[in-house]
Amino acid sequence: MAIKRILIANRGEIALRIHRAAREMGIETVAVHSTADADAMHVRLADHAVCIGPPAAKDSYLNVAAIISAAEITGADAIHPGYGFLSENARFAEIVEAHGLIWIGPKPEHIRTMGDKVEAKRTAGALGLPLVPGSDGAVSEIEDAKRIAEEVGYPVIIKAASGGGGRGMKVCTGPDELETLMQQAGSEAKAAFGDATVYIEKYLGNPRHIEFQVFGDGNGNAIHLGERDCSLQRRHQKVLEEAPSPVITAEERARMGGIVSKAMADMGYRGAGTIEFLWENGEFYFIEMNTRLQVEHPVTEAITGVDLVREQIRIADGLPLSVRQEELEFRGHAIECRINAEDPFTFAPSPGLVENFHAAGGLHVRVDSGLYAGYRIPPYYDSMIAKLIVYGRTREGAILRLKRALEEMAITGPKTNIPLHQALLDVDDFKTGNYTIKWLEEWLAKR
Ligand code: ADP
Repeated sequence: MAIKRILIANRGEIALRIHRAAREMGIETVAVHSTADADAMHVRLADHAVCIGPPAAKDSYLNVAAIISAAEITGADAIHPGYGFLSENARFAEIVEAHGLIWIGPKPEHIRTMGDKVEAKRTAGALGLPLVPGSDGAVSEIEDAKRIAEEVGYPVIIKAASGGGGRGMKVCTGPDELETLMQQAGSEAKAAFGDATVYIEKYLGNPRHIEFQVFGDGNGNAIHLGERDCSLQRRHQKVLEEAPSPVITAEERARMGGIVSKAMADMGYRGAGTIEFLWENGEFYFIEMNTRLQVEHPVTEAITGVDLVREQIRIADGLPLSVRQEELEFRGHAIECRINAEDPFTFAPSPGLVENFHAAGGLHVRVDSGLYAGYRIPPYYDSMIAKLIVYGRTREGAILRLKRALEEMAITGPKTNIPLHQALLDVDDFKTGNYTIKWLEEWLAKR
């Protein structure tokens, strides 16, 4: 192994997750942190820690010069970006490599291609992935927009090429509102992302969000690790994820998995990636690819037994994939709850002092979290403070275990969404797996 010391360019539970994988591989870690995170658990556990700036992310976790300097000062030889922050910034990946450091991530050109949604869709189509019907590339003229919308049929969705985080999308139900919405979408995209480019897609009425985990070695070999169902969302933010999806059969998994892994092999993709689809009436429609580790990766780890972070580090080190497709088995069922410091009814963030913390335990229960009693959750970042992941031989077994584990979790001080997860587990539609991307918001509205 060439990698001896990894700088973790992130914070919170994912920084700890990366530290753990590195430690188990005999690799040292360097934590970089803002002044607000000096007391974070991963900072305490890392071999070296460097403060890289004040609380605001733009001055610390997005501060490229400070991060590269920290790597040089501490003698780190590789950088793992986690998710969010700089993880999908192709320029950052190039800068890391230009400094002679190993980038634990995909090739910069693939990050760039997939970061532009128009380019991503074109590439996915060329690689044989099924697409949502819509415009072939960007649309700027209203006549073209009208023609495409007629062809695919209303309603359509106007999306920003540079969009992300569920922002910059407009649903259009008929030709009368198309022109206004095109203009609005363009100017909002310009304001939010500095790029007014938009494209058009058929709007799917009631799909599920199903994504495939892929891994490539960068030399034309790739595998898939099955799918995750992330349909339970609020404002396009995932709340609870499971693997496998309750609606995908083993045959369908093998078929789609074959398509996505072949696409990644043809592309020469390196590292971990997630190919996101909407799924409706038995059909998959590609929406985007994330060129990084996902928050919900542990459910895949639970049903495959593969440590995805370890795999990322191995590949960055130039080693081959540690498992072959035919060796992979999808066994049992896993569910992850994202535990946020927020009011379970109003969703208002609830940072501050954690008076007490007790993590759930027992067979097949995993808690990924940097919390401890006496820790103060800073108000500057994402409200996710823990992930609870359970595994069961069956979906029913996993749900029962999850109920038990949620009951054991004790976080006092900040409010959390644990009561929301508990309520969700008792709903028939959840128990039967009968939900789509709209379901959670509709259920919350009725609550
Ligand atoms: P972002 O990068 O902003 O997350 P995505 O393309 O992944 O954008 O879409 C985010 C969410 O928007 C999807 O999970 C889905 O809920 C909704 N969405 C996107 N495209 C469509 C579509 N064609 N039809 C219906 N819903 C869509």
